[in-house]
Parts: sequence; structure tokens; C-alpha cells
Amino acid sequence: MKLQDKVCIVTGSASGIGLAIARRYISEGARIVIADLNKAAAETTAAELDATYPGRAIAVAMDVTSEEEVNAGIAEVIAAWGRIDVLVSNAGVQIVNPIEHYAFADWKKMLAIHLDGAFLTTRACLPHMYAQGSGAIVLMGSVHSKEASPLKSAYVTAKHGLLGLCRVIAKEGAAHGVRANVICPGFVRTPLVDKQIPEQAKELGISEEEVVRKVMLGQTVDGEFTTVEDVAEVALLFAGFGSNALTGQSLVVSHGWFME
Ligand code: NAD
Repeated sequence: MKLQDKVCIVTGSASGIGLAIARRYISEGARIVIADLNKAAAETTAAELDATYPGRAIAVAMDVTSEEEVNAGIAEVIAAWGRIDVLVSNAGVQIVNPIEHYAFADWKKMLAIHLDGAFLTTRACLPHMYAQGSGAIVLMGSVHSKEASPLKSAYVTAKHGLLGLCRVIAKEGAAHGVRANVICPGFVRTPLVDKQIPEQAKELGISEEEVVRKVMLGQTVDGEFTTVEDVAEVALLFAGFGSNALTGQSLVVSHGWFME
């Protein structure tokens, strides 16, 4: 058991990648906080996990862009379990549009969810990790932390920004036993990606099949989507890594789409 009794908060874990990480962590003995904007889905998810792993999953409703909700949510976790060992800042959305048509409100919403969300959740967790002298922060980046694609100005900007935040957390956190990493997945078939397929087809003037085959998977070595389980395995590696050797690093998980 790599995470026996560790208290792990995963934001955006009522769906997709975050849910797979929550499942993987709990299977390794973790206590899991399903922190999500969607309260009903978070509660259903936590109840499902609790049925298999009694007493090991709770739901916390939280909009990661709200300072008050994040601070209140982290306080709930401390009240329930008294410590925080791992934060996975994963909640995210996608809005695609060419820059000249990108609404300023959408730009601000994207930066708020991806960057403010990572900052606020990290800031709320660090004092508890520092007091314990240990902890791991895992930020959900993307291949778009390293590479650009048309229509994704805000997403690419925000995901690049997470690399910088991670490096600062790693440098500040080391003295307190806290590590930080970024996971950079390629395309993973989740609701976030399914929503984009018709939107990109419309914007680019191509079929949905071409969006999948050329835009999303065209640069991979095998034409395959990355899976939620692939990403969860890397999240487990970073959460449980036994030394500072990897702190500050990011890892691309993309079937060879982006190599470095
Ligand atoms: P998803 O849509 O399946 O899940 C996202 C979850 O985040 C949902 O449960 C949603 O309710 C929650 N959420 C949205 N806004 C929130 C907010 N303000 N506060 C709290 N929770 C909020 O998406 P996913 O594909 O699993 O994406 C998860 C993360 O992975 C995102 O950061 C995304 O950018 C990143 N990512 C996804 C892919 C992919 O191909 N799916 C690739 C690279 C990176």
C-alpha cells in the first residue's frame, strides 16, 4: 500500500481524470476527499467509494476559484481527518475559440479555474503540510503546458503557468518536506474532451472524426488516447515518491505526442 492512511484531496474528482486518481489512491490505502464544484456528483462519488472502502472517502463541495470556499473546504478536511498529505489540483474546464473571438470573460474564467484554483488550494494546504513536515502537491497540467494548439489561448497560457507555480512550490516547500510536480497528459477521453470534438470540428471546418484522428491523436506514435488510468498511475508515482529527487519536475503522458 503506497498511500496507507494518507489524506489526499483531489479537486475535480467527481468526473474524468480526477475520479480515476481518487480510485487509484484509495486502492492504495488513502483517505480521499472528493472536492468538486458539483456537490451532488461529489457526494455520489464519495458514497460509491465509501461502499467499497468504508470510512475512507468524503465529499467537499468547493469552487476552486473562490477563496472562501477553498479555505472552508480545507478546514472541513482538517476537522474530519486532522491532516493533509497530498493535494491534486486537477479541476479544470476547456473553452475553445480563436483569439479574436475569445470573450474576455471566458479568458478570465479559464485563468481563474486553472491558475487561481491551483494557487488557492495549494496556499490553503501548505500550512498543514508544513506543520507536519511532509506533503505532496500535484498540479494537473497538460501537453499544453509545453505545446500550443490553435483555439486554446487561455488553456495553453494557464497550463504553461502551472509549471512556474510548481517550481516555486518545490523551492519553497523543500525546507518543510513538501514536494511538487506537474502531470502533463495528452488527450484523454473525458467529458472535457468529448465537448471539444464538435466545437473544434465547427471552428476548423473539418469532421468530428478528423478532429479525433488528426488534431487530437495525429501526433501520437500509435493513434491512441491516453487513458485516465495512465494519468492516475503517474499521479500515484508523484504522490508516493520517497525523496526530493523529482520535485519541481513535470512528466508528459501522451503516447509520444510530445517528447522532451
Ligand atoms: P472532466 O470534465 O471530466 O472533470 C472536471 C471536473 O472538474 C468536473 O467534475 C467538474 O465538476 C470539476 N470542476 C470544474 N470547474 C470546477 C471548479 N471551479 N471548482 C471545482 N471543481 C470544478 O475533465 P477532465 O478531462 O477529467 O480534466 C481534469 C483535468 O485534466 C483538467 O485540469 C484538464 O485541463 C486536465 N487535462 C485533461 C485532458 C484531457 O484530455 N481530458 C488532457 C490534459 C489535461
